[in-house]
Amino acid sequence: MDEPSRSSGLGDMPHEAFRRAAHEVADRVADYLERVERYRVLPDLRPGQIRARIPDEPPREGEPWERILQDYAELIEPHVTHWQHPGFMAYFTSVACGPGILGEWLAAGLNSNVMFWKNAPASTELEERVVGWLRHMLGLPERFDGMLTDTASVSTLLSLVAARHAVAGPGSRERGFRPHGPGGLRLYRSEEAHLSVDKAAIVMGIGLEGVRRIPVDEAYRMRADALAAAIEEDRRAGWIPFCVVGTLGTTSSTSVDPVEPLAEICEREGLWLHLDAAYAGSAALVPELREWFRGWERADSIVVNPHKWMWTPFDASLLLFRRPEVFREAFAVVPAYLRETAVEGAHNYSEYGVQLGRRFRALKLWFEIRYFGTEGLAARLREHVRLARLLARWVDEDPDWERLAPVPFSTVCLRAHPRQRLEAMDAAAREARLERWNAAILERVNRGGRFYLSSTRLAGRYTIRVALGNLRAQESHVRGCWQALREAAVEVLAEPP
Ligand code: PLP
Repeated sequence: MDEPSRSSGLGDMPHEAFRRAAHEVADRVADYLERVERYRVLPDLRPGQIRARIPDEPPREGEPWERILQDYAELIEPHVTHWQHPGFMAYFTSVACGPGILGEWLAAGLNSNVMFWKNAPASTELEERVVGWLRHMLGLPERFDGMLTDTASVSTLLSLVAARHAVAGPGSRERGFRPHGPGGLRLYRSEEAHLSVDKAAIVMGIGLEGVRRIPVDEAYRMRADALAAAIEEDRRAGWIPFCVVGTLGTTSSTSVDPVEPLAEICEREGLWLHLDAAYAGSAALVPELREWFRGWERADSIVVNPHKWMWTPFDASLLLFRRPEVFREAFAVVPAYLRETAVEGAHNYSEYGVQLGRRFRALKLWFEIRYFGTEGLAARLREHVRLARLLARWVDEDPDWERLAPVPFSTVCLRAHPRQRLEAMDAAAREARLERWNAAILERVNRGGRFYLSSTRLAGRYTIRVALGNLRAQESHVRGCWQALREAAVEVLAEPP
């Protein structure tokens, strides 16, 4: 199709061409979402196959829009791993809901950069409101302020820097930080905490030696007695404990660290308590699930990811904190060229973190919360918990399968365990055989293309993870997944040892 001013003008894509293309894109996305199940969840590809079909050099002259969209349709759409697919149960859900996608499009059109109130007034004030709504929906008290960031990894990094500022004092900001080893800073996390805590320690310069891993109990929860003993031992050795990171919904098993004992230790020891509820935090929208979060209002900072189990298009992480002034003191740097922009009276969000330029994330959340309503969101979460319990029950009732962790939320950890086939073996040989079988079962299910599951290791045991919570998955999908697992097990067990 002709696009006369594509090459003749020096401006943007012409309005009419943009309008036509925007309609095509809208149709394309709607078709994709309606028919995503026609794709394999995991594309059948080897590294480099797609790159080989994209020219080495960029085009010298602009290309027609039709050809660009056609290449998207042929090269990209079929060859991504389909996070939107109802059979995607590998990692914590990261599905983008319809109203959220529409908000994301409008935000792209505005391109509002939410640095300071003055250069993003409506976007800043909407973010203030949406953060307040989310805080209220999660049942947290008004003293929590907060903001939206890109990921839990960054929310945690910012919180740990604020923790250092609060506990070690402003000197850590002014003079940098002392080297590690005794005399250095220490933070505490359980053996099951997310890798983002370690990455934050690397970025902050306290190093992995500055991170102490606390053992977990039989349900994969941080042991508060071991934490208290570790802090005492470190103090005696000259370390400066400054922060405890508790996890509400760990990545491997969704275990919940005991918040109240952790809060007591932090209050007694003068340490910052950061809670990573990146995945499970959304469950606090459901009144009967709030029990899992008892005491979390005692934390100094909390991260919950709407882009996980609240279906906000990636990215959107909610960082809540009790003392906003600590974040501001730790991060604000306002040079002369921004002094007039940084007016008082509203949040100048860039002063609370690392980024100067910030995406307008509040719009998609505003759309989503209004479209579904708090009841609608809670009903969906409740359904996912029901589905997870259903799968857990099927596993428990099958003598050849085994569940490897409690199911507080929407993720089920399981493995095939045909006991009769293992009777003559010692414990080590049994575990080795179980690992081989279950890895083969997982590989078969994933190769089948209808489902994508992941694995982890719990107490040394190879574990298959089925992460439900996908907005597009219904009971039939969960049933299909269970059937696929059992069929794969029959095939694997029929193979010669
Ligand atoms: N914390 C937990 C418990 C997680 O499970 C994850 C990711 O799955 C993260 C943090 C990191 O989230 P993000 O990708 O938003 O940094």
